[in-house]
Amino acid sequence: MKPEESRTAPRRMSHLLRAALILVGLLAVVLTSVGAAFLFHRAFAAQVDRDLGRTARALAAVYEADSDPAYAALDQAMAGSTLRLTLVDTDGTVLHDSTEPAEKMENHYARPEIAAAREMGEGSSVRQSTTLGREVHYHAVRLDSGQILRLGEETSTMWSLYNQVLPLLGAGCALVVLLSALLAAVMTRWLVRPITRMADHLDTIEANVPYEELIPLAHTIQSDRRLRENNETMRREFTANVSHELKTPLTSISGYAELIETGMAKPEDVPVFGKRIHKEAGRMIRLVSDILQLSELDGMHSEGSTLSEPLPVDLASLLKEVNGNMTMNARKAYVTLQCDPAPATVLGSRDLLTELVTNLCDNAIRYNRPGGHVALRCGTDNTGAPYVCVEDNGIGIPQDAQNRVFERFYRVDKSRSKATGGTGLGLAIVKHIAVLHNARIDLRSTVGTGTTIRVTFPAPKKS
Ligand code: ADP
Repeated sequence: MKPEESRTAPRRMSHLLRAALILVGLLAVVLTSVGAAFLFHRAFAAQVDRDLGRTARALAAVYEADSDPAYAALDQAMAGSTLRLTLVDTDGTVLHDSTEPAEKMENHYARPEIAAAREMGEGSSVRQSTTLGREVHYHAVRLDSGQILRLGEETSTMWSLYNQVLPLLGAGCALVVLLSALLAAVMTRWLVRPITRMADHLDTIEANVPYEELIPLAHTIQSDRRLRENNETMRREFTANVSHELKTPLTSISGYAELIETGMAKPEDVPVFGKRIHKEAGRMIRLVSDILQLSELDGMHSEGSTLSEPLPVDLASLLKEVNGNMTMNARKAYVTLQCDPAPATVLGSRDLLTELVTNLCDNAIRYNRPGGHVALRCGTDNTGAPYVCVEDNGIGIPQDAQNRVFERFYRVDKSRSKATGGTGLGLAIVKHIAVLHNARIDLRSTVGTGTTIRVTFPAPKKS
């Protein structure tokens, strides 16, 4: 499966916002209406109880003040009212009721409000009505005679109140959905516009971050861009340098070949020209192989900044091998080569490390004087870290060039480098190999005195 196929389609921000707003809106509407209905009902019920109590006490006073209490007086007081009056005897027998014949009614002795009134003078309670969605509030008052006068009022329950507001609730929910959709569209546009504007000005992205949360993203984009631009500049410079470096020997080769081809070269010049062609071709071969080596190292870098399968490499034997290989070169340059290997092992690639030491040794010989001296050393320092060191008493590197000699194609003295077969890539390759081995390079050099380059590898981890 291609990576693009497995990618999930991006979600729409407006949909997410709308869903969130609807959810919050609905929750707010439902919670507020349930809460409000509950609170209103509680306040309303308390009010009913208070009113009932007051009326019951007033009626009781009127009933007791009457010298000849008759139920007719009570009935008259209740006429036109929705309240229900009941008069209960001390044993619970219903003596009179304003809505039902008293003899049909069961004993009220155990009714909670009656029992409470009997004991404490007054009592109240609420019970479900026989009518659905209604409840009855009772308030009972004990008379001096021990009889109990009770008033009842039927009201709506909380749930029936709630049923009444249901259509309103529905309308509220619909309004929330509508408003959420509208608000989501507006908010998405409002939130996204600064991001689009930021994406339109990638050059100044870090200076125009609209939201704090986007700072890491802007930072990544900015550094990625800078890296790409740098890479692009480096690639362009490298291509220009390579073309230039290849063009010079090719022009010479072409010129000499043409002289021989057209017969303009005298027969005694032919071997001389042939030797020059050979020399220039050799330079090109070295250059091409250095470029190939660098591109291989670049490839290793992009896969990961360290070697994938490092193996233990004996630095002492590696140094002896390089010493043997370079003896002829040193002799030709009238330079003495000395090798002082001490036991040291690093984890890495033997081929790459051989290349590293060879390049350093080659430079130490080439940038030297007849009668000069080069020493190859290796060992472990006082922290236990293995190192290789190449020391010469050659021409040295000026202070201001010491940081630049590891750049590709940088040379202190171009003509000397070319005359001695340099490509300008030797130390760039050394730096690359050192980075792949997590090694540190220290360069110490004084013009006219000599140069020491030391490569220190990480100390092995103690087990
Ligand atoms: P080159 O192929 O030109 O030697 P390098 O990358 O190996 O390229 O080195 C870059 C430059 O650093 C050289 O051109 C030279 O000027 C300077 N250099 C390197 N090693 C030494 C040294 N041991 N002594 C003096 N100069 C050196």
